[in-house]
Amino acid sequence: MLSRRKLIKRLSSVPVLGGLVGGGLPLVATEALAAAPKRDLFKELGVRTFINAAGTLTYMTGSLMPDEVLEAINYGAKEFCLLDEIQDKVGEKIAQMVHSEAAVVTSGAFSGMTLGLAGILTGMDLKKVEQLPHLAGTGMKTEVICQKAHDIVYNHALTNTGCKIIPVETAEEVEKAINERTALMHFLHIEADKGKIMHEEWVALGKKHNIPTSIDIAADVPPVENLWRFNDMGFSFVVISGGKAMRGPQSAGLLMGKKDIISAARLHMPPRGFNIGRGMKVNKEEILGMYVALERFINQDHDKVWKSWEDGVAHVENTVKAVNGVETNVHVPPLGNHTPTLRIAWDPAKLRITGKELQEALRKGDPSIEVGGGGPSNISVTVWMMKPGQEKIVAKRIKEELSKVAA
Ligand SMILES: *Cc1c(COP(=O)(O)O)cnc(C)c1O
Repeated sequence: MLSRRKLIKRLSSVPVLGGLVGGGLPLVATEALAAAPKRDLFKELGVRTFINAAGTLTYMTGSLMPDEVLEAINYGAKEFCLLDEIQDKVGEKIAQMVHSEAAVVTSGAFSGMTLGLAGILTGMDLKKVEQLPHLAGTGMKTEVICQKAHDIVYNHALTNTGCKIIPVETAEEVEKAINERTALMHFLHIEADKGKIMHEEWVALGKKHNIPTSIDIAADVPPVENLWRFNDMGFSFVVISGGKAMRGPQSAGLLMGKKDIISAARLHMPPRGFNIGRGMKVNKEEILGMYVALERFINQDHDKVWKSWEDGVAHVENTVKAVNGVETNVHVPPLGNHTPTLRIAWDPAKLRITGKELQEALRKGDPSIEVGGGGPSNISVTVWMMKPGQEKIVAKRIKEELSKVAA
């Protein structure tokens, strides 16, 4: 879709437009008009849109794609190409950017986990590819070792292959758990500090016993270095979401890692359909969108972006702090969702509203706003998913609602 600015520019570059008499519009103007946004689909459907002061949450549709990404998607939508060829070519470029032997665009971090493990289980054996997720009697391995603190809901991506999770806590337990059925040792970066074994030791244990290691860093850029840090460290495969901080398509992510694993993982993906990954389809549009989003993310001025997040959060903080009874602090989650995060708390004796009630009031306001938290007497705010200037609206609205309920 053309931006309004571009549309106006295009129209104004057609000098004959006003001077035509009865000859119909020149082709270029017709095209420009045809491209004009005609329908407000959210409005037509009655779907609420809102300012996102909460973060990159799937139920809030993740992130907003920048124009460059949308342009790549539109560009890709207008030609045919071979699905495998575009995955090959984009995969090579991505692998260079993230220091991995190979890479493939998946439909998210979750499918990256399923496909990476599937590739390890089957290798290039097409019969085995067809057999998944039914492992019994196939000779394929059946177990994935994972620290208890890392065994979260998303491990369903691993059990989708037919494997089961073997939870462990210590290095000794890892060594005891390893056997001829062990397919993989999986690590979850965002909970790294909750486990007893850190990244390097995990990789070393895997290498010692010749077991592949994987890591889920779905929500864990910034810092941008995390894109290559774990490939450099020697994890066999790494998965990340495309539609969180990188602002690629929400239906995309990356599987990066060893060449043999990525090649085998590809057998489980479309265009092939005799596999568990057929439903995890990404097409050329997401592939190109993801590629451009990754490139853009790596090349962006990270200090400048960080400063804009700090400034935005500081504006909200300074505005709401003026309300008597409000206390604020800013923290940066160290491992994932690494962005300045403002906690706004208040004295319930001075301000008669709960966090949930404040969330609801902001949701019902105009414009609608979604914030995080919603504790007994606190909420949280991030600005990284806002459009420029929205922090002013959010600051004003939170202050208004809190000022209304002063005891
Ligand atoms: C978001 C998330 C996922 C799922 O990622 P998708 O890209 O939505 O598939 C997996 N693991 C963690 C830790 C996440 O935060």
